[in-house]
Amino acid sequence: MKSLLSISNLSKAYQANNIHALDDLSFECAKGEVISVVGSSGSGKSTLLKLIAGLEIPDSGKIILNDKVINNESIFVQPEQRDCDLVFQDFSLFPNMTINENIHFGKNAPSNKSMIDELISLTNISDLLSRYPHQISGGQQQRAALVRALANNPLLLLMDEPLSNLDSELKENVRRELISILKKLEMTVLIVTHDAEDALTISDKTVVLKKGKLVQLDTPKNIYKYPKSEYAARLFGKTNIVPLDMIPGAKHFFTQTSTGDDLSLIHISEPTRRRGIGGSRVGVEKKRGGGGGGGGGG
Ligand code: ADP
Ligand code: MG
Repeated sequence: MKSLLSISNLSKAYQANNIHALDDLSFECAKGEVISVVGSSGSGKSTLLKLIAGLEIPDSGKIILNDKVINNESIFVQPEQRDCDLVFQDFSLFPNMTINENIHFGKNAPSNKSMIDELISLTNISDLLSRYPHQISGGQQQRAALVRALANNPLLLLMDEPLSNLDSELKENVRRELISILKKLEMTVLIVTHDAEDALTISDKTVVLKKGKLVQLDTPKNIYKYPKSEYAARLFGKTNIVPLDMIPGAKHFFTQTSTGDDLSLIHISEPTRRRGIGGSRVGVEKKRGGGGGGGGGG
């Protein structure tokens, strides 16, 4: 598949604290693909989206969107000229505008009227158009923010933890709606999440970030089943780390048991040392259910 977004050797350090928020990051996103970006807090996920949206300037590296260089050492395309839209974690609807005004605010909105009408009915917000953001629920705000972003008909949709402000019951419904809308529109999406369940249900591929570096890129299911590091394993569900020296004769393995599934042994390519004690590691036992748990590991 043709790549729509190409990120090459992208780095960004914030001067204020000299933190390397992104460190030599490279990956590609094909047209129509949904890629999730997961990582612990501070791993550079939001920075990545801001760089693509043009809200931050990289120190080095290249970003190509739809065959057009939007960032390299000499080019910086202004945010409004980039064919992508960013949905923020707090939805960032304009509080002084009605939902209708919010939705029609975007630069391409006037020419996309019929598409916007379809989006409004698809997301079930037609009855809310005359209300202000504070007069609707979190889930409804999320849908309005999504319609506002899609109203521009962007080539690439960037979403920064769009589900994290929703309570768990609402979240499941909104997630289901989100998936069906994105699939229907065949949108290309980069979605940041810290929830493995989101990654497993929404995305085709997952980029795992740790301290600004890409540590694994694969299907979310493969990362769940074959994490290359303890870090990735822990991001993808409740995990018990068992020191390897407690399993006599074992080599460097992750052992994974999902309730009801067969026990499987998973090789880790880069065994790490047990912190403080020095033994090699490690088995991993995954547990289904509970917060952030796996769900796709069978
Ligand atoms: P994430 O979204 O994964 O939580 P961020 O991309 O927001 O991570 O941040 C990555 C790192 O860069 C963090 O250490 C954060 O404190 C730092 N950082 C983010 N934005 C700024 C900023 N505007 N100025 C200084 N440091 C920042
Ligand atoms: Mg963030």
